[in-house]
Amino acid sequence: MMRSMPERLPEALQKKLSERLSLYEDLGIRLFYKDRGAPHAQAAFTPIADSFEAPVPQKIHYEDAALRKTVRKPELSRAAQSAPRAVPSQVAPKFDPLPVPAGPSLFETFDKLPGDTLLKSRADLGECTRCKLHKTRNTIVFGDGNSKAELVFVGEGPGHDEDMQGLPFVGRAGKLLTQMIEAMGLQRKDVYICNVVKCRPPENRAPEKDEVAECSPFLLRQIDAIAPKVIVCLGAIAAQTLLQTARGISQFRGQWLEFRGRKLMATYHPAYLLRNPSAKGEVWKDLQKVMAVLGLEAKKGKSAEAGKSS
Ligand code: URA
Repeated sequence: MMRSMPERLPEALQKKLSERLSLYEDLGIRLFYKDRGAPHAQAAFTPIADSFEAPVPQKIHYEDAALRKTVRKPELSRAAQSAPRAVPSQVAPKFDPLPVPAGPSLFETFDKLPGDTLLKSRADLGECTRCKLHKTRNTIVFGDGNSKAELVFVGEGPGHDEDMQGLPFVGRAGKLLTQMIEAMGLQRKDVYICNVVKCRPPENRAPEKDEVAECSPFLLRQIDAIAPKVIVCLGAIAAQTLLQTARGISQFRGQWLEFRGRKLMATYHPAYLLRNPSAKGEVWKDLQKVMAVLGLEAKKGKSAEAGKSS
């Protein structure tokens, strides 16, 4: 038998719900559908070892070669529009009882471009003026490394040194990343390194929503073109962008997740490690999981020690 909803939600729950809704509002998410709630949310955060199911690929079309996305509004069936709101018969999962945004996610609207390459996407990016970051940048920092890498590192956005040199992760944080890569028994030329945004945000601030929205399709093309086994997200911005979540990185760091059929590991950003060296041990554990999947052995000696200790 169906139970009816209580007339009013308890005050604490109302407050929580309204806070969550304003968070979604801030993220530009306004439509919610009951039927896509829990399973979708769980899929995005369930470790692969469990039973993650990648979102069903959707039909995509591009308006132009520069990958401006066409957002298709999800259509509700008539029945769904007029039906009284039924109370779900299943018990809601404990882990996230709040509704989850419906409709195509940022990346579900993009399909693979057949025959796409890093060179093509770099050419399509051009001397980009799609967002305001172009006004203050010195150089576009597209990405660097092996175009057939099994491992891709994704950072947030170029800093001062990167903006000057046109290469990702070449400043202080970059030096630490290089040590981490070497500790894994690899060299920078074995992996591919890129960022969510390709132009330096002024004063090294976090990239803003509109900047991420304009630039991240190119990140997606990079990942698709390289087709790595593993993506390592360095820090919250990269992880939140690819996973389409506002959750704090510490909630899912170190767990195997999935992004468009590829293994994704989120770990702390090297700049965070510079400020919090005691977190290096956590990051090393995350990288060891990546190494196990890639069949790598830690490099003996200084670099490995640098990776492990604080
Ligand atoms: N931090 C990043 O996120 N990316 C870089 O390229 C450099 C520093």
